[in-house]
Amino acid sequence: MKKIAKIVVDREVCIGAAPCVTVAPGVFQLDEENKAVVVNAEGSDQDTILLAAQSCPVQAISLFDEEGNRIFPE
Ligand code: SF4
Repeated sequence: MKKIAKIVVDREVCIGAAPCVTVAPGVFQLDEENKAVVVNAEGSDQDTILLAAQSCPVQAISLFDEEGNRIFPE
């Protein structure tokens, strides 16, 4: 897998279900609106960040490589 350079949470799509926080609490936390925010893009290893993105039931998390290409969702 290419290196994850950027993590984007679509706040319009996020429903605050929080599996991303459960999988990678060092990266994702819920804010006061119950939307996921990235607290530290390097707070977990790459595989765990991908797993967190995959765990989102509404695919609100997008991952990009250093060239700006989307890694997930494909
Ligand atoms: S898993 Fe998806 S919907 Fe749930 S808090 Fe994270 S980004 Fe939002």
